[in-house]
Amino acid sequence: MGLLDKHVSQIRAYSGIKDHGADPFNVRFDRVLSPTEAELNGRRVILLGTNNYLGLTFDPECVDASIEAVRAWGTGTTGSRIANGSFGGHLAMEQDLARFYGRKHAMVFTTGYQANLGVLSALVGRGDHLILDADSHASIYDGARLGHAEVIRFRHNDPEDLYKRLRRLEGTPGERLIVVEGIYSMMGDAAPLKEIVDVKRQSDAYLLVDEAHSMGVLGEKGRGLAEVEGVEDDVDFIVGTFSKSLGAIGGFCVSNDDDFDILRVVTRPYMFTASLPPAIVASTLKALQRVENDRTLRPQLQANAERLFRGLNALGFTTGPNPSPIVAVVMPDLPAALGMWNALLGGGVYLNLALPPATPNNRPLLRTSVSAAHTPEQIDQVLDVFEWAGRELGVLPVQGQRASG
Ligand code: PMP
Repeated sequence: MGLLDKHVSQIRAYSGIKDHGADPFNVRFDRVLSPTEAELNGRRVILLGTNNYLGLTFDPECVDASIEAVRAWGTGTTGSRIANGSFGGHLAMEQDLARFYGRKHAMVFTTGYQANLGVLSALVGRGDHLILDADSHASIYDGARLGHAEVIRFRHNDPEDLYKRLRRLEGTPGERLIVVEGIYSMMGDAAPLKEIVDVKRQSDAYLLVDEAHSMGVLGEKGRGLAEVEGVEDDVDFIVGTFSKSLGAIGGFCVSNDDDFDILRVVTRPYMFTASLPPAIVASTLKALQRVENDRTLRPQLQANAERLFRGLNALGFTTGPNPSPIVAVVMPDLPAALGMWNALLGGGVYLNLALPPATPNNRPLLRTSVSAAHTPEQIDQVLDVFEWAGRELGVLPVQGQRASG
């Protein structure tokens, strides 16, 4: 008997997964060569499962800023901002984010996960209602748990269902906070934000949008889905992360709420953890400048996303609904997913294996994410490997036969 016996079913399932080949949840890179290539067991692989949407992880300006900061300020802050104080970079980052979003206030967190954990648990508590899209990220669900608000889930991307659930709450005491994501991390689909805002306007609810996967990716200025949909004034809180298009780690929240700064002394995942290290803040500040000023990155990303999406669909794979930097390939079952994941890796393509219950509709997914840094040749190479693996494993019909569905 051991404390971990309660995980026996996961232990069995995980060992079954590892029996199929490499361990998809413990891949070890020997070296990372660029935003789009790494070496794994002595072989080069194309990275197709990072969230490095703009390819900024090796951007010379970001790297130099990081090196300078570590020399000037040291390797870490060694404490939280309420205990050990803020460094200049933290304040500069908050000012820049507030300016970037045209909001009065910004607050940075050590990870995007902690931003959701902190903000959600501090905005709504016992007696309040948190109305979440059913496909919300784990950090949103965990933030809900930490805050003890009542969680009400509405059907994924279904504003009518949201409307019904808000109607049912009429006359009930407590605040309401609606939470949606700009781009959903598993299928790459965007929230119908205009319609969600219409529903919000008919109620007294607040709206928070997690733009983790859409910041730097969507919008002329890179501010995300709320910018594209022209509804920024209706979004009360935006949460995001530095770990995707900005190429580092960290999280943030921006808002116009006059009392926003009280969050600094009531938000446990901000108060009781060490603040962002100076090197990370410095590279992120530079990356945000690139998001704002480099108008070539988003079109490149979009072109790559479309190339992969159209290519996979033309081959007969089932993907998410529309081109997006996240292209999810739906697998018929777990053995097919494991076989394909291993075959793709063997063919030099690394991507994410996403399994139920973390996936919508409990379907296994090969989750790809595209970068502006991928070349069209790399995308074509990926498509060739997909085609080869799909035919080898019978996920695609052998050439000459029609796809059965
Ligand atoms: N929100 C969403 C929608 C996410 O997909 C993620 C991470 N995948 C996070 C928040 C957490 O961000 P981070 O990994 O930077 O902590």
